[in-house]
Amino acid sequence: MSNLTVAKFGGTSVANFEAMQRCANIIKNDLSNRVVVVSASAGVTNHLVRLGQENVALHEQLEIVQSIKTIQYAIAQHLSNKDALSVVIDGKLSELTAIAQLQSEQYSAKNADEILSFGEQFSSLLFTEVLNSLGVNACCFDVKQVMKTNSLYGKAVVDNEALKVNAVEKLAAKLNEQVIVTQGFIGQDGLGHTTTLGRGGSDYSAALLAEALDASNLAIWTDVVGIFTTDPRITDQARAIPEISFGEAAEMATFGAKILHPATLIPAMRQNIPVFVGSSKEPEKGGTLIQQSVESNPTYRSIALRREQTLVTVRSPAMLHASGFLAKVFAILAKHELSVDLITTSEISVALTFDNPTGSTQSLINSSVVEELEQLCEVTVEHGLSLVAVIGNNLHATKGLGRSVFDKINDFNIRMICHGASSNNLCFLVPENDANVVVEQLHNTLFV
Ligand code: ADP
Ligand code: ASP
Ligand code: MG
Repeated sequence: MSNLTVAKFGGTSVANFEAMQRCANIIKNDLSNRVVVVSASAGVTNHLVRLGQENVALHEQLEIVQSIKTIQYAIAQHLSNKDALSVVIDGKLSELTAIAQLQSEQYSAKNADEILSFGEQFSSLLFTEVLNSLGVNACCFDVKQVMKTNSLYGKAVVDNEALKVNAVEKLAAKLNEQVIVTQGFIGQDGLGHTTTLGRGGSDYSAALLAEALDASNLAIWTDVVGIFTTDPRITDQARAIPEISFGEAAEMATFGAKILHPATLIPAMRQNIPVFVGSSKEPEKGGTLIQQSVESNPTYRSIALRREQTLVTVRSPAMLHASGFLAKVFAILAKHELSVDLITTSEISVALTFDNPTGSTQSLINSSVVEELEQLCEVTVEHGLSLVAVIGNNLHATKGLGRSVFDKINDFNIRMICHGASSNNLCFLVPENDANVVVEQLHNTLFV
């Protein structure tokens, strides 16, 4: 649809009534904003993650539900229909309490996702009312009607074909009449059960909806004025990037820049939808435009950091001049649905890294993976590492790259340098405790 913007507001943007009002004004001031995707209010999903775990004592369950109630009531009390809203909120909280109790007695991944979905249900309900209170004709749409997924609870895969058909059938016509507010992060499987797309997944939901509705723009409204040269929480020297290519931004997201969920740019790239990233607190300050091609392609664009990486080293003298060893290792990893990130090899050993997605309670490399690998070789598993990625253009053809990057971080123990597979990144591991200082010093070297 021409001139259709899908706007996504993250947790801090819908944290409280004042924040929601700022976002509602952004929608009101630009009539192309017809679809709004919201995250849960800040902090709510973290509460729900805890509530969805097994063996949570009853008193803790009640405390968590009370904390969520406080956040949502604080927003509702500013609205003229607060009494009616309280009834709806209370109804949902009772439902949540019942599932939480069941979950603490008998854990299931299915119920964990059901529990996680409440945050976005509350925020979308309340944000719709905030829009209506400002005179914007808005309605709340249940995204489960269109966001069909498989049953991989916690990390569900969306059926793009079904989404497209459903979006055209159930959503497109509505857009001419009302602003549609819907939930990020959640979907529904073939059995009618609620699923979630992984932490931070609302960005991805918004991008998928933009693609399905053939939107002309996607706007990601967050708590920073765009994409920066590195996480501004690590160094105050980080600066906003006005324009960046899909490819570079996708590398940043993949390598841990929390500003975008790693999959966000996939639908945007498929459909060539420009993505704007800006601050809902300071919309007047502009932001970053991500699009197919940009005017400048600097050697160094940004530094991303991904924490909680696991390094697995497999070692076998039998690997010397042998064939098929790696295939066996990868077959075991595939069987356990483990996705390898970085890889380096020597004559008799191979080092592999794995991302430990935030929020996961158990180590990905569990004892049964190790035991199976040990049938083949010696295995060492190391935790407490962070992956630093230098992102830019033509890095493979940049003379002196090694010196520029590593000269000023001489004092640190750098592990597993990976460069060559892509001309857009150079990655390495550092001990978790050194990560912030390494990024800060590297940023001072490459960008200041
Ligand atoms: P939201 O709740 O709006 O989705 P997130 O907390 O998920 O917001 O993402 C925004 C945060 O991402 C920022 O506050 C910032 O700390 C972090 N971040 C990490 N890397 C970058 C980067 N390169 N540029 C901007 N922000 C970044
Ligand atoms: N509310 C979910 C989370 O906190 C999804 C999101 O915010 O994008 O992970
Ligand atoms: Mg986010």
